[in-house]
Amino acid sequence: MAKDVKTMEDLFLEEIRDLMDAEKQITKALPKMAKAATSEELREAFEEHLEQTRGQIERLEQIFSEMGVKSGGQKCAAMEGLVKEGEEMVSMTEEGLVRDAGLIGAAQRVEHYEMAGYGCARTFAQLLGRAEAADLLQETLDEEKETDERLTEIAESMVNQQAMSESRGTGGRTSGAGD
Ligand code: FE
Ligand code: FE
Ligand code: FE
Repeated sequence: MAKDVKTMEDLFLEEIRDLMDAEKQITKALPKMAKAATSEELREAFEEHLEQTRGQIERLEQIFSEMGVKSGGQKCAAMEGLVKEGEEMVSMTEEGLVRDAGLIGAAQRVEHYEMAGYGCARTFAQLLGRAEAADLLQETLDEEKETDERLTEIAESMVNQQAMSESRGTGGRTSGAGD
């Protein structure tokens, strides 16, 4: 690979190109995750985050156009892996609350990856004196954090408990020993 990232400006561009590709992958994955979800609240959270994600892509496009550079050319390998894990979660589970609990875990991995990426990119933008870009990236970072918290709330307020009663009802692989 050519060593053409030499300056912090180059690095900043790489970071936001990676985020752009990650967000595009997420817009394809979220409708599938919404479709796989059983709980109404979880499905709504995925659908609303899809809308938010479209706005996040617009913010990135705004940054690229202000810098006068192209947005493409970078693949986010990590997001490919995270999306694949989400798909595996769906194929390993039947429809129901155990799957929902797994989908939340997969989605939170995505949000945490994005939080790391946007936190980094926001800080680089500040360093480079790009205050407007820093504000746009901070807005998205806040949305990713809120989404992560919302998923925790959905898990802890109902999905996990319902998944537990679903598990007791069907007698999963933990039943037997000692009961
Ligand atoms: Fe995002
Ligand atoms: Fe990446
Ligand atoms: Fe997100």
